[in-house]
Amino acid sequence: MTMLSVENLTARHGLLEAVRGLSFSIAKGEILALVGANGAGKTTLLRTLAGAHPVHGGSITIAGEDVTRLAAHQRVRRGIALVPEGRKMFAAMTVAENLKLGAMAGRKGDWSVERILDVFPNLRKRIGHKTGHLSGGEQQATAIGRALMSNPDILLLDEVSLGLSPAIVERVYASLDGLMRSGTTILLVEQDLSRAMAVADRVICLLEGRAVLEGRAKELTRDQVTEAYFGLNRKKNERVPA
Ligand code: ATP
Repeated sequence: MTMLSVENLTARHGLLEAVRGLSFSIAKGEILALVGANGAGKTTLLRTLAGAHPVHGGSITIAGEDVTRLAAHQRVRRGIALVPEGRKMFAAMTVAENLKLGAMAGRKGDWSVERILDVFPNLRKRIGHKTGHLSGGEQQATAIGRALMSNPDILLLDEVSLGLSPAIVERVYASLDGLMRSGTTILLVEQDLSRAMAVADRVICLLEGRAVLEGRAKELTRDQVTEAYFGLNRKKNERVPA
Protein backbone atom coordinates (compact mmCIF):
# COMPACT_ATOMS: atom_id res chain seq x y z
CA MET A 1 0.00 0.00 0.00
CA THR A 2 1.25 3.49 -0.87
CA MET A 3 1.44 5.57 2.30
CA LEU A 4 2.68 8.85 0.87
CA SER A 5 2.64 10.01 -2.69
CA VAL A 6 3.97 13.26 -4.11
CA GLU A 7 3.20 14.37 -7.67
CA ASN A 8 5.06 17.15 -9.43
CA LEU A 9 5.51 19.01 -6.13
CA THR A 10 6.90 22.53 -6.21
CA ALA A 11 7.72 24.75 -3.23
CA ARG A 12 9.25 28.20 -3.26
CA HIS A 13 11.01 30.73 -1.09
CA GLY A 14 9.98 33.93 -2.85
CA LEU A 15 11.18 33.51 -6.43
CA LEU A 16 13.54 30.68 -5.54
CA GLU A 17 12.13 27.28 -6.43
CA ALA A 18 13.55 25.09 -3.64
CA VAL A 19 11.56 21.97 -4.64
CA ARG A 20 11.10 21.62 -8.39
CA GLY A 21 8.46 19.28 -9.73
CA LEU A 22 9.30 16.36 -7.47
CA SER A 23 7.41 13.05 -7.75
CA PHE A 24 7.90 9.96 -5.57
CA SER A 25 5.99 7.64 -3.31
CA ILE A 26 6.67 5.66 -0.13
CA ALA A 27 5.12 2.29 0.59
CA LYS A 28 3.76 1.41 4.02
CA GLY A 29 6.61 0.37 6.29
CA GLU A 30 9.29 1.63 3.94
CA ILE A 31 12.23 3.77 5.03
CA LEU A 32 13.22 6.36 2.46
CA ALA A 33 16.37 8.43 2.95
CA LEU A 34 16.62 11.81 1.35
CA VAL A 35 20.20 12.93 0.79
CA GLY A 36 21.71 15.97 -0.87
CA ALA A 37 24.09 18.84 -0.27
CA ASN A 38 23.24 21.94 1.78
CA GLY A 39 20.52 23.88 0.04
CA ALA A 40 19.31 20.93 -2.07
CA GLY A 41 15.77 21.45 -0.77
CA LYS A 42 15.46 18.61 1.77
CA THR A 43 14.18 20.69 4.69
CA THR A 44 11.81 22.64 2.43
CA LEU A 45 10.42 19.34 1.12
CA LEU A 46 9.82 17.90 4.59
CA ARG A 47 8.23 21.12 5.82
CA THR A 48 6.02 21.23 2.72
CA LEU A 49 4.90 17.64 3.30
CA ALA A 50 4.04 18.46 6.92
CA GLY A 51 2.13 21.61 5.93
CA ALA A 52 4.63 23.97 7.57
CA HIS A 53 5.56 25.46 4.18
CA PRO A 54 3.08 26.26 1.37
CA VAL A 55 2.70 24.07 -1.69
CA HIS A 56 3.27 26.09 -4.85
CA GLY A 57 2.26 23.37 -7.30
CA GLY A 58 1.56 19.65 -7.49
CA SER A 59 -0.06 17.38 -4.93
CA ILE A 60 0.53 15.40 -1.73
CA THR A 61 -1.51 12.29 -0.95
CA ILE A 62 -1.54 10.38 2.33
CA ALA A 63 -2.95 6.84 2.13
CA GLY A 64 -4.98 7.79 -0.93
CA GLU A 65 -6.33 11.08 0.43
CA ASP A 66 -5.27 14.35 -1.18
CA VAL A 67 -3.99 16.56 1.67
CA THR A 68 -2.38 19.27 -0.49
CA ARG A 69 -4.74 21.98 0.72
CA LEU A 70 -4.90 20.87 4.36
CA ALA A 71 -3.26 22.84 7.18
CA ALA A 72 -0.45 21.31 9.24
CA HIS A 73 -2.66 20.29 12.19
CA GLN A 74 -5.09 18.61 9.79
CA ARG A 75 -2.25 16.64 8.24
CA VAL A 76 -1.12 15.50 11.71
CA ARG A 77 -4.64 14.09 12.11
CA ARG A 78 -4.19 12.29 8.78
CA GLY A 79 -1.07 10.62 10.19
CA ILE A 80 1.98 12.68 9.23
CA ALA A 81 4.42 13.90 11.90
CA LEU A 82 7.56 15.99 11.47
CA VAL A 83 10.61 16.01 13.71
CA PRO A 84 12.01 19.34 12.55
CA GLU A 85 15.65 20.21 11.99
CA GLY A 86 17.08 21.72 15.18
CA ARG A 87 14.44 19.92 17.28
CA LYS A 88 12.30 23.02 18.00
CA MET A 89 11.47 22.14 21.58
CA PHE A 90 9.40 24.17 23.99
CA ALA A 91 12.34 24.80 26.31
CA ALA A 92 10.28 25.97 29.29
CA MET A 93 8.14 22.83 29.22
CA THR A 94 9.10 19.53 30.77
CA VAL A 95 9.75 16.35 28.80
CA ALA A 96 6.36 15.01 29.96
CA GLU A 97 4.57 18.19 28.85
CA ASN A 98 6.27 18.10 25.44
CA LEU A 99 5.29 14.46 24.98
CA LYS A 100 1.68 15.11 25.97
CA LEU A 101 1.54 17.97 23.48
CA GLY A 102 2.25 15.44 20.75
CA ALA A 103 -0.84 13.47 21.77
CA MET A 104 -3.15 16.45 21.25
CA ALA A 105 -3.90 15.44 17.66
CA GLY A 106 -6.10 12.78 19.26
CA ARG A 107 -5.12 9.96 16.89
CA LYS A 108 -5.66 6.52 18.29
CA GLY A 109 -2.69 4.19 18.52
CA ASP A 110 -0.23 2.33 20.70
CA TRP A 111 2.09 5.19 21.61
CA SER A 112 2.06 6.37 25.21
CA VAL A 113 4.52 8.20 27.44
CA GLU A 114 5.46 4.82 28.93
CA ARG A 115 6.21 3.31 25.53
CA ILE A 116 8.30 6.36 24.51
CA LEU A 117 10.32 5.88 27.72
CA ASP A 118 10.86 2.23 26.77
CA VAL A 119 12.24 3.30 23.39
CA PHE A 120 14.29 6.16 24.86
CA PRO A 121 15.21 4.93 28.35
CA ASN A 122 17.59 7.87 28.88
CA LEU A 123 14.50 10.11 29.12
CA ARG A 124 13.05 8.24 32.07
CA LYS A 125 15.08 10.11 34.68
CA ARG A 126 14.47 13.39 32.83
CA ILE A 127 10.70 13.19 32.52
CA GLY A 128 10.06 16.08 34.95
CA HIS A 129 12.92 18.27 33.66
CA LYS A 130 12.49 21.29 31.43
CA THR A 131 13.70 20.41 27.93
CA GLY A 132 15.86 23.55 27.81
CA HIS A 133 18.10 21.88 30.43
CA LEU A 134 18.57 18.60 28.55
CA SER A 135 21.53 17.44 26.48
CA GLY A 136 21.24 17.52 22.68
CA GLY A 137 20.62 13.77 22.52
CA GLU A 138 17.91 13.94 25.18
CA GLN A 139 16.25 16.85 23.38
CA GLN A 140 16.34 14.89 20.13
CA ALA A 141 14.78 11.89 21.84
CA THR A 142 12.05 14.16 23.25
CA ALA A 143 11.40 15.66 19.81
CA ILE A 144 11.07 12.20 18.26
CA GLY A 145 8.92 11.06 21.18
CA ARG A 146 6.66 14.09 20.78
CA ALA A 147 6.12 13.23 17.10
CA LEU A 148 5.45 9.57 17.93
CA MET A 149 2.82 10.56 20.50
CA SER A 150 0.61 11.64 17.59
CA ASN A 151 0.61 7.96 16.50
CA PRO A 152 1.83 8.83 13.01
CA ASP A 153 1.60 6.57 9.98
CA ILE A 154 4.50 8.49 8.45
CA LEU A 155 7.35 9.98 10.43
CA LEU A 156 9.44 12.72 8.79
CA LEU A 157 12.87 13.02 10.42
CA ASP A 158 14.97 16.04 9.50
CA GLU A 159 18.65 15.50 10.30
CA VAL A 160 18.22 13.88 13.68
CA SER A 161 22.01 13.71 14.09
CA LEU A 162 22.62 17.42 13.59
CA GLY A 163 24.76 18.91 16.34
CA LEU A 164 25.07 15.66 18.28
CA SER A 165 28.30 13.87 19.18
CA PRO A 166 28.95 10.59 17.31
CA ALA A 167 28.24 8.58 20.48
CA ILE A 168 24.86 10.27 20.95
CA VAL A 169 24.02 9.83 17.26
CA GLU A 170 24.67 6.10 17.73
CA ARG A 171 22.30 6.08 20.67
CA VAL A 172 19.54 7.97 18.83
CA TYR A 173 19.79 5.62 15.83
CA ALA A 174 19.91 2.57 18.07
CA SER A 175 16.65 3.76 19.65
CA LEU A 176 15.14 4.34 16.22
CA ASP A 177 16.08 0.84 15.12
CA GLY A 178 13.11 -0.79 16.84
CA LEU A 179 10.83 1.84 15.39
CA MET A 180 12.13 1.19 11.91
CA ARG A 181 11.64 -2.55 12.31
CA SER A 182 8.17 -2.12 13.78
CA GLY A 183 6.81 -1.09 10.38
CA THR A 184 6.52 2.68 10.82
CA THR A 185 6.87 4.45 7.48
CA ILE A 186 9.82 6.84 7.68
CA LEU A 187 11.17 9.59 5.45
CA LEU A 188 14.48 10.76 6.80
CA VAL A 189 16.94 13.43 5.84
CA GLU A 190 20.47 12.40 6.73
CA GLN A 191 23.74 14.15 5.86
CA ASP A 192 25.76 11.04 6.62
CA LEU A 193 25.59 9.03 3.39
CA SER A 194 26.86 5.78 4.90
CA ARG A 195 24.26 5.90 7.64
CA ALA A 196 21.49 6.85 5.21
CA MET A 197 22.35 3.92 2.96
CA ALA A 198 22.64 1.55 5.90
CA VAL A 199 19.24 2.30 7.46
CA ALA A 200 17.10 3.04 4.40
CA ASP A 201 15.31 0.71 2.00
CA ARG A 202 15.45 3.35 -0.70
CA VAL A 203 17.45 6.52 -1.28
CA ILE A 204 16.58 9.67 -3.22
CA CYS A 205 19.31 12.19 -3.89
CA LEU A 206 18.18 15.77 -4.35
CA LEU A 207 20.14 18.39 -6.23
CA GLU A 208 18.78 21.91 -6.55
CA GLY A 209 15.26 20.75 -5.75
CA ARG A 210 15.18 17.84 -8.19
CA ALA A 211 15.64 14.10 -7.72
CA VAL A 212 18.84 13.24 -9.57
CA LEU A 213 19.15 9.66 -8.32
CA GLU A 214 16.68 7.20 -6.88
CA GLY A 215 17.19 3.54 -6.09
CA ARG A 216 17.18 0.75 -3.56
CA ALA A 217 19.89 1.40 -0.97
CA LYS A 218 21.36 -2.09 -1.43
CA GLU A 219 21.67 -1.64 -5.18
CA LEU A 220 23.33 1.79 -5.18
CA THR A 221 27.05 2.24 -4.72
CA ARG A 222 28.45 4.96 -2.52
CA ASP A 223 30.18 6.41 -5.58
CA GLN A 224 26.89 6.70 -7.47
CA VAL A 225 25.30 8.53 -4.57
CA THR A 226 28.32 10.79 -4.02
CA GLU A 227 28.38 11.76 -7.69
CA ALA A 228 24.67 12.56 -7.67
CA TYR A 229 25.11 14.46 -4.39
CA PHE A 230 27.64 16.81 -5.93
CA GLY A 231 26.03 16.89 -9.37
CA LEU A 232 29.04 15.18 -10.95
CA ASN A 233 26.92 12.83 -13.05
CA ARG A 234 25.68 15.67 -15.23
CA LYS A 235 26.97 15.27 -18.75
CA LYS A 236 29.67 17.73 -19.72
CA ASN A 237 28.26 20.97 -21.14
CA GLU A 238 24.75 19.96 -20.07
CA ARG A 239 22.80 23.04 -19.15
CA VAL A 240 21.16 22.98 -15.77
CA PRO A 241 17.47 23.49 -16.47
CA ALA A 242 16.15 26.68 -14.88
P1 ATP B 1 20.44 22.02 4.56
O1 ATP B 1 21.07 20.69 4.51
O2 ATP B 1 21.41 23.15 4.61
O3 ATP B 1 19.35 22.14 5.61
P2 ATP B 1 18.42 21.61 2.55
O4 ATP B 1 18.71 20.59 1.52
O5 ATP B 1 17.52 21.24 3.66
O6 ATP B 1 19.75 22.22 3.12
P3 ATP B 1 16.68 23.88 2.20
O7 ATP B 1 16.97 24.38 3.57
O8 ATP B 1 15.37 23.28 1.92
O9 ATP B 1 17.80 22.84 1.76
O10 ATP B 1 16.96 25.06 1.17
C1 ATP B 1 16.64 24.97 -0.21
C2 ATP B 1 16.89 26.32 -0.87
O11 ATP B 1 15.96 27.26 -0.34
C3 ATP B 1 18.27 26.89 -0.60
O12 ATP B 1 18.69 27.57 -1.76
C4 ATP B 1 18.06 27.86 0.54
O13 ATP B 1 18.98 28.92 0.49
C5 ATP B 1 16.64 28.36 0.25
N1 ATP B 1 15.94 28.70 1.49
C6 ATP B 1 15.70 27.88 2.53
N2 ATP B 1 15.01 28.52 3.50
C7 ATP B 1 14.79 29.77 3.05
C8 ATP B 1 14.12 30.93 3.57
N3 ATP B 1 13.53 30.88 4.76
N4 ATP B 1 14.11 32.04 2.82
C9 ATP B 1 14.70 32.09 1.61
N5 ATP B 1 15.34 31.04 1.04
C10 ATP B 1 15.40 29.91 1.74
